[in-house]
Amino acid sequence: MDYEKLANLLFPNVNKTPEDYEIIYPERDLPQGAKVTRLGPSPTGFIHLGNLYGGYVDERLAHQSGGVFFLRIEDTDDKRYVEGALDLIIDGLEFYDIRFDEGASKSGDCGAYGDYTQSHRGEIYACFAKKLVSEGKAYPCFLSEEEISAIREGQVERKEAIGVYGDYSPWRKASYEEVEAKVNGGEPFVIRLLSTGNPNQSGDDAKRFQVEDAIRGTLDMPVNFLDVVILKTTGIPTYHFAHVVDDHLMRTTHVVRGEEWLPSLPIHVELFEKLGWEPMTYCHTAQLMKIDENGNKRKLSKRKDPELSLGYYREKGYHPASVKEYLLTVLNSDFEEWRIANPEADIDDFQFSTEKMSSAGALFDMDKLNDVSKDVMLRIPAAEIIDFLEKWAEEFKPEAMHIFDDKEYLSKIIDLGRNDQKPRKDLVYAQQIVDFISYFFDDMFKREEEYPAEVPAEDIPVILKGYLESYDHSDDQSQWFDKIREMGSGLGYAAKPKDYKKDPDNYKGHVGHVSTVIRLALMGRSQSPDLWTIQQILGEEKTRARIQEEIARLERNL
Ligand code: GLU
Repeated sequence: MDYEKLANLLFPNVNKTPEDYEIIYPERDLPQGAKVTRLGPSPTGFIHLGNLYGGYVDERLAHQSGGVFFLRIEDTDDKRYVEGALDLIIDGLEFYDIRFDEGASKSGDCGAYGDYTQSHRGEIYACFAKKLVSEGKAYPCFLSEEEISAIREGQVERKEAIGVYGDYSPWRKASYEEVEAKVNGGEPFVIRLLSTGNPNQSGDDAKRFQVEDAIRGTLDMPVNFLDVVILKTTGIPTYHFAHVVDDHLMRTTHVVRGEEWLPSLPIHVELFEKLGWEPMTYCHTAQLMKIDENGNKRKLSKRKDPELSLGYYREKGYHPASVKEYLLTVLNSDFEEWRIANPEADIDDFQFSTEKMSSAGALFDMDKLNDVSKDVMLRIPAAEIIDFLEKWAEEFKPEAMHIFDDKEYLSKIIDLGRNDQKPRKDLVYAQQIVDFISYFFDDMFKREEEYPAEVPAEDIPVILKGYLESYDHSDDQSQWFDKIREMGSGLGYAAKPKDYKKDPDNYKGHVGHVSTVIRLALMGRSQSPDLWTIQQILGEEKTRARIQEEIARLERNL
């Protein structure tokens, strides 16, 4: 067979050579050890935690080494294209501090290794497919779907490996004339790799190869023997071919991708070999897992788990720094230790390394995210938290925008107890924060809990009236509390909880119950930061008004 002639028959319009492309996309001029990474999302309109998880790895590897991190749009599966997806990807990742140096951007491509959208690279894929055909390493295949199904059925029956390979591929050995007749007849065809792996070797006989994975160490896998499709009938490449051609020409040094790609690694290694190129370093990340309601560990699923979508965190209002900090605890086993030793350090000072990544499933846990977020929020100044909350509320809770009218007031609320010796960790995510501080705003204030059972109903207005009478906004904390104690004693409540515990029959309850009544009247809940401080923030007028309103309400209900 004259492969050169065959290649010209199949690709009459290719006018560049592989050498041309090697010149157009030269080796990058970067310092020794600089890593070039890329994120290759499909424009499906859904960005998920996995994109962010992998994105951090890419971003850290590149930026920690003085390298380049670029964005490539992998839209070879055109059925999944969603309008506006590029903006969604870029904005979605930028929110989490992931910025690209190069690649597809909102204002077009940026960088010398483009085009960065796979559907625009048809000529390039055709050129390299042509090269493989001209060397007898790939061939056109005219099998119909029905013929492929028939091959598969036979294989299933005989318990053989499924696919088009070896003697199962009639077009491997077709003559030029047979192909020419089909092409001239306008028959659609795909281009298949002509694998030199041996399909007759399987199990222990299989020939194997080794490849280093930066996360998993040495991988030992059977070589590929499938004649996989590299160009579809439309001329659009499969993932396998696009990955190999693009990452070679874009001079990627590290391919970070999910472990779902591991099984196709033998295909990619064979493609690199057939094209005469060196594969780059692979970093196959672990699957994101969770413990489900039944206590079972399973993969996060798009269908079942809303927390897989990045939109979920945005809507709840997790600060991006919390999400980043949390993902790093999942990504690198020594991150938490580093954080304890460097509580104030910039997160980017952490030396990220692929060796410290787990290759078993990465366990995703919302409770842990919340815990991490509490610590992260504590490090963010109130003014910055307010800015963040405001942007969040504009989008997700416009009815609460009035809380930003008085920033000084809000700032005191946010900082409540955050600067204490043992700081309070009340702030977790925007939705929860706005709810947590709602009692500071009359329109959002709700009575959420009942008064303590120890206090008889008729005592409540008495306590509140007595409290109002003796209330002096300028009292310091101990003067204030002494007055509550005194009033409680007069009404039959022990001045100290321990007195009540010792002799419960002698008292109605203790001072704690009395102050809980006041707390409930003021805030509608029994748990809150320090009551005296809250009153100082609320101001005298609002404090008195709340108590008065509650007395009136109770009297109405009597
Ligand atoms: N487009 C692929 C995906 O969406 C990217 C895989 C890769 O990074 O190689 O999963």
